[in-house]
Amino acid sequence: MAMTDDAPLLVANGLTKRYGHRIGCENVDLTLYAGEVLAIVGESGSGKSTLLQMLSLQMMQTRGDISYRMRDGQMRDLTLLNEAERRLLMRTDWGYVSQDATLGLRMSVSAGGNVGERLMGLGWRHYGNIRNEALDWLDRVEIDRNRIDDAPRAFSGGMRQRLLIAKNLVTKPRLVFMDEPTGGLDVSVQARIIDFLRGLVADLDLAVIIVTHDLAVARLLSTRIMVMRDGHVIETGLTDQVLDDPHAPYTQLLVSSVLQA
Ligand code: ADP
Ligand code: MG
Repeated sequence: MAMTDDAPLLVANGLTKRYGHRIGCENVDLTLYAGEVLAIVGESGSGKSTLLQMLSLQMMQTRGDISYRMRDGQMRDLTLLNEAERRLLMRTDWGYVSQDATLGLRMSVSAGGNVGERLMGLGWRHYGNIRNEALDWLDRVEIDRNRIDDAPRAFSGGMRQRLLIAKNLVTKPRLVFMDEPTGGLDVSVQARIIDFLRGLVADLDLAVIIVTHDLAVARLLSTRIMVMRDGHVIETGLTDQVLDDPHAPYTQLLVSSVLQA
């Protein structure tokens, strides 16, 4: 059966994670469409990262299903993928940008090597082409081209984060997971990164699921928002509507405490 463009990209039902007796998150339903940016917000410990790690196949759920529309249009149950399919998805069709760039980068491999590695995963073999594409991406994330042979070990925190973004976008993924992508950086550095992330997301027509405790980041990047508390979804809707006119008392509290900050 042919899939239409309005078929969802990712669907999760009843996603639940228990750590022993402790609830990581419970009964989360979620639907994401191509090109859509969903922000998952909530205080520390509300289950955001747990949810993101399950959705991105880095952690096994206790219960619930996730399905994803592959490039061939087939909707697949992600728990049923074989190892090769799963690896291909994670290396090419998906990106993952966490707060800690040292987890996503190879710190002693050159900047060009870090970016080029993902292209080689897609089958690129020509050295000159790979290098040119890497240079192009350094430009896009505002890293000086002369640094292409330097290892990220020698980079500042902001540069590492920008390189991680380049590495994860170079394969033109359809879906990128981000967990506090600007957390831990200086405010001025954050603002610049959020700014070009916005541009890249629009240019590349990426679908993004971004976890953040920062409502300003959610406001700038996302079209839809999901508010979590104690592992449960409290409220969900269009970002501007939820932030301007929150319905749940908890969301009202969250929004007003930001306004007072
Ligand atoms: P957030 O990303 O919103 O800060 P987390 O998903 O990290 O929240 O955590 C949700 C809940 O699950 C918290 O109560 C946290 O203490 C618990 N938790 C997270 N990871 C683990 C773990 N590896 N073992 C036990 N409990 C965990
Ligand atoms: Mg977290």
